[in-house]
Amino acid sequence: MNTGKAIRTLINSASMLQKSTGRPITRSFCSSTHETRPPITEFTPEENMLRDTVAKFSLERVKPLVKEMDVKSELNMGLFKECFDNGLMGIEIPEQYNGTGLNFMSSIIIIEELAKVDPALSVIVDVQNTLINNCIKRYGNEEQKAKYLPKLATEMVGSFCLSETSAGSDAFSLKTRAEKQGDYYVINGSKAWITNAKEAGVYIVMANIDPASKHRGITAFLVDRNTPGLEIGKKEDKMGIRASSTCEVIFNDVKVHKSAVLGELGKGYKIAIEGLNEGRIGIAAQMIGLAQGAFDSTMPYLMQRTQFGKPLAEFQGMQFSYADLAVDIEAGKLLTYNAARLQEAGKPFVTEASMAKLYCSRVAERVASTCITMLGGVGFTKEFDAEKFFRDCKVGQIYEGTTNMQLQVIARSIMAKYK
Ligand SMILES: Cc1cc2nc3c(=O)[nH]c(=O)nc-3n(C[C@H](O)[C@H](O)[C@H](O)COP(=O)(O)OP(=O)(O)OC[C@H]3O[C@@H](n4cnc5c(N)ncnc54)[C@H](O)[C@@H]3O)c2cc1C
Repeated sequence: MNTGKAIRTLINSASMLQKSTGRPITRSFCSSTHETRPPITEFTPEENMLRDTVAKFSLERVKPLVKEMDVKSELNMGLFKECFDNGLMGIEIPEQYNGTGLNFMSSIIIIEELAKVDPALSVIVDVQNTLINNCIKRYGNEEQKAKYLPKLATEMVGSFCLSETSAGSDAFSLKTRAEKQGDYYVINGSKAWITNAKEAGVYIVMANIDPASKHRGITAFLVDRNTPGLEIGKKEDKMGIRASSTCEVIFNDVKVHKSAVLGELGKGYKIAIEGLNEGRIGIAAQMIGLAQGAFDSTMPYLMQRTQFGKPLAEFQGMQFSYADLAVDIEAGKLLTYNAARLQEAGKPFVTEASMAKLYCSRVAERVASTCITMLGGVGFTKEFDAEKFFRDCKVGQIYEGTTNMQLQVIARSIMAKYK
């Protein structure tokens, strides 16, 4: 269809609409189009209520514990329990399984709000909701859902075990094996960098049942913590998100019944990819929350500290710095919310998720770093929150696919469009 014809078709349908409704074209055609497209930053009343509630929880219950958890490199188990009690760990788990029964956008809102105060607690909640719960919800059979979802919603975290020391960006070159023995599989190997591993009660483990088939042999298994042969190895001593445990998980002849297979045999790579695609929107939310948190903790100081007889915030040089950051944060939110809304609408979102994760992790670093610069000497101390936000932000460019891996996903979609 040429452009002129396309425009005529559009006008014809508008005038037909006008005739049938009796309303002028500008009202009936244009305003109805407008009404179906609310601004991307507009939330439903329920989503706004959720945001306010989590913001209050973050300030009153999380903030007082952040420093201690960071110094000790340990999650406060009382706070951990409160996350379950407040329904933050089973956001999209249906109510029939004791979950909160909300949507994906709600997970994104919660992850973002928590990250404004503590990106470490935020990632604990993020992995549980966007990776663990959703994988089991999507791929689990009825028996598996009944066994795990109620616990995941109320008392138990899970871990997503894909990476290995020799399989990071090239995750599907993983070496962990699962050998069939009658009705059982015997898992051998070890996983690296596993979030929530120290506290987890269940591990989604990617292991290869048929190495000759390469990635088509990768299968997902649900392995309970108390299974003989499963051992939690070294806990990483990290620069940031220290309250979130990151450990090695070792499998020595770990025997699981065939009913522990999650989804189809040989489809573990698909489960992992699909989980990570959604998970990346969660990381984007974590990073943009972090950026907002760093910004919010810095601005009051700039308004109050005077040099050369006036507040720092009034110097044009400073204004240009923080105005730039505010634009970055706004753009990051738009990318993140749009990716989340696409996912929710069941539309393709993979490229948008990578764009959001890539951009927001860069924004987080830029904002946290500039906040320290704007604060001056005090920004370089642990007295101010910017120092921790700066340490916490770096991992956003590493986990759930490094920045280069996001660029690769984006480039692939561009190549597909132009080939
Ligand atoms: C705190 C933390 C928590 C984590 N949690 C989990 C978890 O819960 N579960 C899990 O399975 N994993 C987890 N990971 C692992 C994480 O996903 C990997 O660290 C990540 O995928 C990168 O792998 P790598 O560290 O081996 O780096 P490498 O793959 O060795 O990459 C090193 C560098 O090389 C670049 N690079 C690699 N290949 C290419 C290429 N083809 N082209 C261009 N550049 C390339 C990368 O972009 C990167 O900059 C976690 C990691 C961290 C740090």
